[in-house]
Amino acid sequence: MKTPFVTKELVERIEKDYPTPFHIYDEKGIRENARKLKDAFSWNKGFKEFFAIKATPNPFIISILQEEGCGVDCASIQELYLAEALHMGEGDIMFSSNETPAGEFAKARSLGAYINLDDITLIDFLDKECGVPETVFCRYNPGGFYNVSNGIMDNPGDSKYGMTRQQISDAYRRLMMLGAKHFGIHAFLCSGALTDDYYPMLAKDLFKLAVELKEETGADIRYINLSGGVGIPYRPGEAPCDIKRIGEGVRAAYEEIVEPAGMELAIFTELGRFMLAPYGHLVCKAIHEKHIYKEYIGVNACAANLMRPAMYGAYHHLTVLGKENAPADHRYDVVGNLCENNDKFAIDRELPRIDMGDYICIHDTGAHGFSMGYNYNGMLKSAELLLKEDGSVKLIRRAETAKDYFATFDFCDVMKDAGYKR
Ligand SMILES: *Cc1c(COP(=O)(O)O)cnc(C)c1O
Repeated sequence: MKTPFVTKELVERIEKDYPTPFHIYDEKGIRENARKLKDAFSWNKGFKEFFAIKATPNPFIISILQEEGCGVDCASIQELYLAEALHMGEGDIMFSSNETPAGEFAKARSLGAYINLDDITLIDFLDKECGVPETVFCRYNPGGFYNVSNGIMDNPGDSKYGMTRQQISDAYRRLMMLGAKHFGIHAFLCSGALTDDYYPMLAKDLFKLAVELKEETGADIRYINLSGGVGIPYRPGEAPCDIKRIGEGVRAAYEEIVEPAGMELAIFTELGRFMLAPYGHLVCKAIHEKHIYKEYIGVNACAANLMRPAMYGAYHHLTVLGKENAPADHRYDVVGNLCENNDKFAIDRELPRIDMGDYICIHDTGAHGFSMGYNYNGMLKSAELLLKEDGSVKLIRRAETAKDYFATFDFCDVMKDAGYKR
C-alpha cells in the first residue's frame, strides 16, 4: 500500500487556484529525508550531498535542500546559472558534465565549483580554457558488469561515462604536472539500486582505488564521490533503502580500507531520485473513458508531464483520490492525449472504478518527473506546487502558456497572430 501525501479534499481546494494537472512536492518529507541522509553519514567529517539538479531543477526545492546543507551537482551551463542564482558558492557545486561544450568549465570554475572530468582528453581542454584548478575530480569506469546483489546490476562497460583504470592514473599524473594539488574520485555504476549494498560496495571499490592511486602516483586524494543511484520503491510492497544502514556499510569499508592506509577522505554523494522522487506527485483528472478492445481512462496529463513510463516502461503507482480503500476491481489503461501509443501512465492496472472527474495521483514523480518534460504535440508543461510544512500550498512554477510555447518565434512576424496572446 502506498499512501499519497495529498487527499481528494486538498486537491479540490488547490484546484480552485491551480487547475490540474500539476506536480506537487512535500516539503516535510523532503526535509526529513535529507536529515536522515546527513545523519547516516555524520561519522564522515567532510560529508556533503550535491543534489543532482537535473532531477528537479526548481529553485524553491533546491533552496529547501540548501537549508538542509546540500549543494548541487550540475552538468550544463543552465544548471550552473540556477546554482549561481541561488548564491551557491565555493564548494557548493559539483560540475559532473560530459562532452562539455566550450565555456562551461570556465563558468564552473568562476563559481568555485568542483570540476569532475569525465574523460582524459578533457584535461588539456580544461587547461586551455581556464587553467587546471587546485582540486580536480576524475570519473572512473571499471568496465564490464557491476553486480551489486541479488539480481541488482548495471552495465558500466556499455556506458559512455568515465575513464578506464589506466587512464585515471595517467590523468592524475598529467593533472599534477598542470598544477592540480588535490584529487577526488567519482563513479556512477548502478542506477536506481533498490538495495542497501550498492553504496558500501562502490565505496569499497573506490577506497581501494584511492589507496592504489596514491601509492602509484603520489596524488593527494581527498574526496570520494559516490554519485547517485540509490533507488526508491516505486512499486507497493518494495522495501525502501535504509539510509542509516547504507551509511554504516560505507563506514565499515572506510574503517577497513581508508584508516589503515592513513588517509582521510570526505564522502560526497550526488543523489537525485533518493532525495526527491517519493516526495512528488503528478496530480491529474480523469476526463474521458473509452471502451474498445480494452478499457481506457483518459487523463488531462500526458507523457510531456511525466516521461518515465513512456520512455522506460517505468512503473508509477496510481491512487484514485477518495477511493483509497475501494476494491481494485477494474482493469484500465490510464492514458494521456499524445498521438503516441506509448503515452500510458499505466497498462492493465487493477484500480477502483474510475468516474469522470476523479483525481488520479501518480506517485514518486518528485525526481526525473517534471524535469524530463517536453513539448511534443504542442503540449504544455504544468505548474509545480509546494505543500509546505504548515499545510499551505505555494506556487513554485507557473504552468506554461501557449505564449511560452511560441516564445522562440518572437524574432519574426509569422506567429504574431497565432492565438497565443493569453
Ligand atoms: C543523474 C545523475 C545523478 C543522480 O542520479 P539518481 O539516479 O537520481 O540518484 C548523479 N550524478 C550524475 C553525474 C548524474 O548524471
